[in-house]
Amino acid sequence: MAKNQHRLTCSFCGRPREEVNILIAGQNGEHICDDCVEHAQNIIAEENNNREQARKAGYKFAIRKPSEIKAFLDQYVVGQDEAKKILSVAVYNHYKRITQKKKDDDVEIEKSNIIMVGETGTGKTLLAKTIARQLNVPFAIVDATVFTEAGYVGEDVESMLTRLLQACNYDVQAAERGIVYIDEIDKVARKNDNPSITRDVSGEGVQQGLLKILEGTEVLVPPQGGRKHPEQKMVKMNTQNILFIAGGAFDGVDKIIARRVNTNAIGFGVNKELQEMQKKNMLQFVNATDLKSFGLIPELLGRLPVITHLDPLDRETLRAILIEPKNSLVKQYNRLFEMENITLEIDDEVLDFMVQKALEFKLGARGLRSICEHILTDAMFELPGSDVKTFHVTLDYATRQFDKSKMNLLKVA
Ligand code: ADP
Repeated sequence: MAKNQHRLTCSFCGRPREEVNILIAGQNGEHICDDCVEHAQNIIAEENNNREQARKAGYKFAIRKPSEIKAFLDQYVVGQDEAKKILSVAVYNHYKRITQKKKDDDVEIEKSNIIMVGETGTGKTLLAKTIARQLNVPFAIVDATVFTEAGYVGEDVESMLTRLLQACNYDVQAAERGIVYIDEIDKVARKNDNPSITRDVSGEGVQQGLLKILEGTEVLVPPQGGRKHPEQKMVKMNTQNILFIAGGAFDGVDKIIARRVNTNAIGFGVNKELQEMQKKNMLQFVNATDLKSFGLIPELLGRLPVITHLDPLDRETLRAILIEPKNSLVKQYNRLFEMENITLEIDDEVLDFMVQKALEFKLGARGLRSICEHILTDAMFELPGSDVKTFHVTLDYATRQFDKSKMNLLKVA
């Protein structure tokens, strides 16, 4: 030990002072020689080069026409035509905006961040995810309920950018053109009408925090996320070209809309058509005023200028979700059985039965999967390795399997 203190060596290659040209001292007594510095530089250059190659290969960003974006969405998402159309146009304009060549006339196209209003499980996340997949850009889903105002227990809003960075292996350039889906934006609504009574750190405080990020600014992002790693080196990111899509169920907003629509309709007599449309889905009339009444601050709404809605899933849509999408549940199970060399045959009435149960148990499209699982698990357990070549699911079999499952106990009154 004592000997080492007198004899300076490179802490990396171990060579003594006499054998190297330059030995640079660190703060805690360690040293590095010129050879090792050069070696390290080469490693860094190579690593950067690899990342750049990976970025170029991985994110070949492609702009598509709105009709092409919608056609792609149609392959994965059933119904929701209006939301698809509005999203396609907004996304197209957004990417036109970021690829436009600067001209002298100073016409600046503004960002078209989007807000989607629709019951839970109607396809909001699926739409955002599918769009990101088609555009081949990094995509992150974040939950607005985890955020709190800086300084309080919870996560800073900047952490949503950490997720985006992580999604593309810290390729900052790619992340700066990515899409962030902010789920449950309705949960950060102002808790009460008078903002000054108590501090609303997970409501209005978060909305305030979101403003700058949504609009476009330079943000220092903790690459590991959270506040647990105070020593981490921050990454600078510009959010100017990131598309933000927010979604929420906004429970109760239909009543706010109804009040507004009906007040406006007074004096025009009873409009039968309007009444019919209202009965189907009040959310189709949603606008920024309603979301403001719900508790989103006007500044935030100003930064989410495109508003669209999703329709509730009716019987036909649920049935279509089972079979139509490119990776529908039925197609997925078919493939699983096919891999065992078994042909899966599901009777039509079994599909109706699944839809009926999803409606009865108020599970929506999310529930379809667990219903399928309950019906098919026994078969998936027993059949591999057997000599069965075809497995036929009848209504009788499906009913028996479902009735013996624990799911049956979940029935909502
Ligand atoms: P939300 O974000 O609106 O709560 P999701 O997009 O997460 O709902 O939907 C939950 C699941 O339900 C999806 O993964 C998908 O399997 C299914 N689903 C919901 N709506 C649709 C739809 N319109 N078309 C196809 N699948 C859907």
